[in-house]
This record gives sequence, structure tokens and C-alpha cells, in this order.
Amino acid sequence: MGDCIFCGIAEGAIPSKKIFEDDETLAFHDLAPKAPVHFLVIPKRHIRNIMECGAEDGVLLGKLLLRAQGLARELGCGEGGARFVINCKSDGGQTVDHLHIHVLGGRGLGWPPG
Ligand code: AMP
Repeated sequence: MGDCIFCGIAEGAIPSKKIFEDDETLAFHDLAPKAPVHFLVIPKRHIRNIMECGAEDGVLLGKLLLRAQGLARELGCGEGGARFVINCKSDGGQTVDHLHIHVLGGRGLGWPPG
């Protein structure tokens, strides 16, 4: 959609370190990792943020979350766990307006966020 970076990645026009892809979803390593494991899981369809989702998106959201969980396990976070984060709009710290789940792991993470 337009100049959306993650749409560009989904279309293959912008390079990424891809981890997983199917018809509806894509996972790739974050460009600026904040933890030893830090990847993003996105829908290929342009959805601006989680606030825009409705009941019709329930199956897709379930797929994204379970893919995030499965890849976290594959990347070594099964034992220690990980953090699954969805930033939303300005107060949530969202900088890319295309829905994405962050998965961060491989070290202990503080709480609450700053
Ligand atoms: P958020 O602040 O929740 O919107 O997160 C956006 C994330 O996208 C940040 O962690 C960025 O480092 C990451 N990011 C931005 N551009 C790229 C890119 N081209 N490839 C991979 N990750 C990116």
C-alpha cells in the first residue's frame, strides 16, 4: 500500500532477512534488533494497526500469534520464553503503520516499558 515499508517487504521490493512466509503472513528479522532474538510477524495485507481489526480478522490474528509462538520456539526461546508485543499508534510507540507483532527473546527483559 503506497509507501508502506512492510508492504514493500511483503512484495519483495524491499529486502529483508525472511524467516517464514505463506500466502497471508510473513516473518523477518528486525533491522535494529533490541534483543538477541528480535523478529516481526506481519500480515501481507495492509492493516494499519490492531485498532483497525474486527471480528473478520480473528482467524488471521490467531495465525499471526501462533506463527510468532512457533518461530520463537524454533529460534531458541521455548525454554526461556519471549515477549510478544504489538505497538499501536503514537502512545503505543508504533513507528511503522502496518500491523506487526514483535518477538523479543534471548535475554531477560525489564518491565514496565519506559
Ligand atoms: P514499531 O515501532 O512497533 O512500529 O516497530 C517497527 C520496527 O520495524 C522497528 O523495530 C524497526 O527496527 C523495524 N524496521 C523498520 N524498517 C525495517 C526494515 N526495513 N526491515 C526490518 N525491520 C524494520
